[in-house]
Amino acid sequence: MTASSNKRAIIVGAGPAGLAAAEVLAQAGVEVIIRDRMPNPARKFLLAGRGGLNLTHSEPLATFLTRYGAAQSSLEPAIRAFTPDDLRAWCEQLGIETFVGSSGRVFPKQMKASPLLRAWLARLAGLGVKLVTRSRWTGWDGDAVTFDTPGGPQTEAPGAILFALGGASWPRLGSDGSWIEAFTMRGADVTSLKPSNSGFLVSWSDIFRDRFAGHPIKAAHFVHDAAEASGEVIITRTGIEGGAIYALSPALRHSISAVGHADLTIDLSPNLTAGELARKIASAPSGTSTANRLRRTGISPVAASLLRERRGGPGLPNEPDELATLIKECVIPLAGVAPIERAISTAGGISWNSLNADYSLKSDPRTFVAGEMLDWEAPTGGYLLQACFATGRAAAKGMLARLF
Ligand SMILES: Cc1cc2nc3c(=O)[nH]c(=O)nc-3n(C[C@H](O)[C@H](O)[C@H](O)COP(=O)(O)OP(=O)(O)OC[C@H]3O[C@@H](n4cnc5c(N)ncnc54)[C@H](O)[C@@H]3O)c2cc1C
Repeated sequence: MTASSNKRAIIVGAGPAGLAAAEVLAQAGVEVIIRDRMPNPARKFLLAGRGGLNLTHSEPLATFLTRYGAAQSSLEPAIRAFTPDDLRAWCEQLGIETFVGSSGRVFPKQMKASPLLRAWLARLAGLGVKLVTRSRWTGWDGDAVTFDTPGGPQTEAPGAILFALGGASWPRLGSDGSWIEAFTMRGADVTSLKPSNSGFLVSWSDIFRDRFAGHPIKAAHFVHDAAEASGEVIITRTGIEGGAIYALSPALRHSISAVGHADLTIDLSPNLTAGELARKIASAPSGTSTANRLRRTGISPVAASLLRERRGGPGLPNEPDELATLIKECVIPLAGVAPIERAISTAGGISWNSLNADYSLKSDPRTFVAGEMLDWEAPTGGYLLQACFATGRAAAKGMLARLF
């Protein structure tokens, strides 16, 4: 279907949420213009593709929805209207086959974003959607919106506008959270943007940092308060990052903001009990150095050195029971949250109580919002993209019902 000219909408932000909204509107016969500040659309989506593009998750929908924590009830209608199965079917319609990995995560078979994005942009172009890049939204002027473009400032007076400006992680890809002030002035309540699925800062010793930055700690179990996760983390020069730590990031961030630090307890040998470990350690011939005893117990060099970085380090006990306890409960003090610039996603954003159920602003119901700029967070696992697709589509449907 091609667009008819008496129905016109502007979408600002050509990430997955904005593109999903554009598709719904254009399919309903709305003339859609997408503006984005970057020279190319969906830069963060393409970056996500470097990690294989985890599109969504195959677990039962009831479990899936719990991953959004406090935002579950707000996001649920949009996700039920565009479920993980719908997302997979949509990919297939674009000619992109998906598969379920061993963890239940869903990926495109090609494990990258560019073929999907190419097919999607071609579909949007076929629907008459116009994409204007290098066009940075700078705010409102009355009911008009203003843009900086290479040709100078431009003003649009749209009857309908949808913003999908993203959060504030990886700002060099286009989303930097600079929309907060204008939206606050427009009457929206915005919760401060914080890193989510982020790394954390640790004051490593020079020797550990220089030797082990970039090394993984594999198959460990991580605990902070009631939150726990198993998997892999990477030692960085400034601290620690990776899937297992991202999963704990809301709990760790909360403690750091409350008391300035957080203790991360790591079980470096989750498949053995403390008793089994102690017996293995004790079975080494007398005179074996502690380093060699740890190696014989299956503790990697990086994990063995991590024990010396623990709270209370660096000396290690000789007694097998004490050493085993330490391996099972190695407490690493985290000194802060790594900068949002390197986080996978953003917590905080436009609060749900500023929104009508159709994703329009209560303070300006001709303005709709979607994607990561809303106040929700979720772990990695495909939950981020699923919510961006779903809210983009829901906001577009809201706009259709309210304005067209
Ligand atoms: C390294 C990395 C890996 C990731 N991997 C995954 C993954 O595997 N699975 C998953 O579910 N999620 C993943 N994510 C998260 C996911 O990419 C984001 O949640 C998603 O892209 C957010 O979509 P969005 O449309 O809301 O915002 P964005 O994708 O951030 O798009 C916002 C758009 O708005 C534009 N914009 C911003 N401000 C302005 C302005 N003033 N004027 C005009 N345009 C503007 C930006 O240029 C950008 O194109 C990953 C993120 C990162 C950083």
